[in-house]
Amino acid sequence: MNPTTPEYRRNATPFLYGGEADAVARVLKAGQYGHTQVTEEFERKVAAFLGVPDAVAVTSGTAAMHTALLAAGVGPGHEVIVPSLTFCATIQAVLACGAAPRFIEVNPGTLCIEPDAVMEAITPDTRAVMPVLYGGRAVDLTEIRDTLDRRDIAVVEDAAHAFGSYRGSVRVGSTGDLTCFSFGPIKNLTCGQGGMVIPRTPAEAATVRQLRLLGVVASQAQRQAATSYRVEGFGLRYQLSSLNAAIGLAQLPKFKTTEVNRQELWRSYRCALRDVPAVRLVDVDVDHSVPHLCVVRVADREEVFRRMLAAGVAVGVHYPPNHLQPAFAPWRRVLPVTEQAGREILTLPFHQHMTDDDVRHVAATLKAATGGGQ
Ligand SMILES: *Cc1c(COP(=O)(O)O)cnc(C)c1O
Repeated sequence: MNPTTPEYRRNATPFLYGGEADAVARVLKAGQYGHTQVTEEFERKVAAFLGVPDAVAVTSGTAAMHTALLAAGVGPGHEVIVPSLTFCATIQAVLACGAAPRFIEVNPGTLCIEPDAVMEAITPDTRAVMPVLYGGRAVDLTEIRDTLDRRDIAVVEDAAHAFGSYRGSVRVGSTGDLTCFSFGPIKNLTCGQGGMVIPRTPAEAATVRQLRLLGVVASQAQRQAATSYRVEGFGLRYQLSSLNAAIGLAQLPKFKTTEVNRQELWRSYRCALRDVPAVRLVDVDVDHSVPHLCVVRVADREEVFRRMLAAGVAVGVHYPPNHLQPAFAPWRRVLPVTEQAGREILTLPFHQHMTDDDVRHVAATLKAATGGGQ
């Protein structure tokens, strides 16, 4: 694309700090592209960043959710409580375990699930709840923690949007839940492609490590020095390549900049959108989050979406509700709050290449697209 194109016209692209290319080149030259010391260093650094004892790297956020659910004991015959308003990957991870998604509503102002809705959806088959940390906002289920524990229901967080965010005074990932991060191309921290499971126990960590390596239990050194290897159980090719880990390792020391930039950008939007009465901003609790999205709700979304694209602003929709998708029809329920949100949500351009001027331009365009005033 033309380098003079204003940033609000672009779809989000990864934000690179400069060291990533060298880091990848070093791994390329070293000639070991699988799960290596580089991957393990990335695991240690992420664990230290979050203040947790361990972190297990995998190929993607989807793989993180799949293996975390398996480690929590989710399988055929079980139900997993999940918002319908999420990326389809969350639901596919549930189905990959042979379990059934039980779709629930979200709070219309935050698009996150609430404890009450979880309680209403619990059945004897419920084995896990998957809060989606929409836009980077932490989800707090502490008030129903005892009930969940008593019923042996695990909390497996889809924190794909929320790397770096806080719940209270601690980072998401160090709250005692099983947490899954994505390091996909445009996430708060990128590996190009990648994911991470934050396990609750050493046993869970060992399970995810076995699952990600085709069920083989042995270190790389052990495998290279032996004539055989042991396949201990089910597993998949879910290891994080050292090429991808190197990108994440180069990004991590710069994360404070990411955190500040994203918060400032979101606050700029909040300020500029005060002048756009026809839209309501979905709140991400910016003081505690590293915001991932800037989403508004607007009555005539289809028309506004069309006008914004016509005006050259790269808007999107996160997400069409999953309970209305053909693939998930067997688990469809009536979810009026989610369906209304699905008709009204509009994602504004939000990435670190943007400036305050870009934000003001988007807000002004949105004002015009929604009729200018009222
Ligand atoms: C990106 C994303 C995922 C999937 O992560 P991948 O790394 O792309 O597999 C899951 N859930 C949500 C909410 C996401 O945004």
